[in-house]
Amino acid sequence: MKRKISILGSTGSIGRQALEVIEKLQDKFEIIALTAGSNYELLNNQIAKFKPKYAYAEDISKIEGAKPLSLEEIASNKDNDILLVAVSGKIGLKPTITAIKNGINIALANKETLVMAGDIVMKEAKNNNVNIIPVDSEHCAIHQCIKDISQVDELIITASGGPFLRKTISEMKQASVEDALAHPRWHMGKKITIDSATLMNKGLEVIEAHHLFNMDYDKIKVVIHPQSIVHSAIEYNDGSVIAQLGLPSMHIPIQYAISYPERYKGIKTKSFNFSEIARLDFEEPDTDKFKSLNIAYKAGKDGGSATVCLNAANEEAVFAFLNGQIKLYDIIEITEKMLEKHHIIHSPSLNDIFEIDKEIRIKTGELLNKISV
Ligand code: MG
Repeated sequence: MKRKISILGSTGSIGRQALEVIEKLQDKFEIIALTAGSNYELLNNQIAKFKPKYAYAEDISKIEGAKPLSLEEIASNKDNDILLVAVSGKIGLKPTITAIKNGINIALANKETLVMAGDIVMKEAKNNNVNIIPVDSEHCAIHQCIKDISQVDELIITASGGPFLRKTISEMKQASVEDALAHPRWHMGKKITIDSATLMNKGLEVIEAHHLFNMDYDKIKVVIHPQSIVHSAIEYNDGSVIAQLGLPSMHIPIQYAISYPERYKGIKTKSFNFSEIARLDFEEPDTDKFKSLNIAYKAGKDGGSATVCLNAANEEAVFAFLNGQIKLYDIIEITEKMLEKHHIIHSPSLNDIFEIDKEIRIKTGELLNKISV
């Protein structure tokens, strides 16, 4: 029996790589639906190749070869065994919850879902007996290491350090969009690449890990590991440390998440060679330079709507930076300011979350207009 899968965001970086994995495993997977934003040419090529029954895009009249359905209809289709959520931003949240309520397992590549509504999402997953398998390489690594979470003392999340690891704060303040997009290890979408440059991505990953593994923030550590070979680790209560290693390719965590609990050869082309890697380095993150990390920890510990504010303010500031409206370091400072002013709502409902998200984006926009370069 083939596993039936739908992909939200099939034309993005994760979506395209997921289809490369599935192409190698055509006897294992059947695609039910693909969705895109406005890259109609690529979506239609993917439909011609993988023949899903259904598809969604912003303009459904441009979809060729599959029946158009809404994101909600695609997420609630019980034909799916698994939904790969590979869209970027808050658009992933509603369909993820819909799929969970319909008992569909989730391969989650969308951090915002847990940063914005981790308490609600994990509670629904538990109530509906649904697995949420992380695609994010660090969380996928931790998922592979954990046997019994009750015996784990600490989660150790690795970070490559991004393009500014060896730069000073003042060099970072002068960085152009091109400098910030030049990630040394991973090829990803623009939003996550900028988040990796400020290390906010790691902060969001700490919050993601807190929800996924139900772990206190004090027990989640971040360590800089420039080679990106150790994708993360856990320390058990007896002092044993288990890490997951591999070459930095998103194919591996994507394949793990959609195949779990099975494993297949799939995309693997060569054996891992320790001697070729030669050395692995680790160091403490510089939290004076990468203040985002502390900001994210604080928002996570404050809980409630603080992480909704963090996510929305950061995202708006990242878009403003990509548009040339502000400098790289302003992203961090704007996010910090928005959090300082934010009045935290505890245990927000899904509606509260969307309202707060909207409000923070408007207020961040006002602040951005004041400081535009
Ligand atoms: Mg990651």
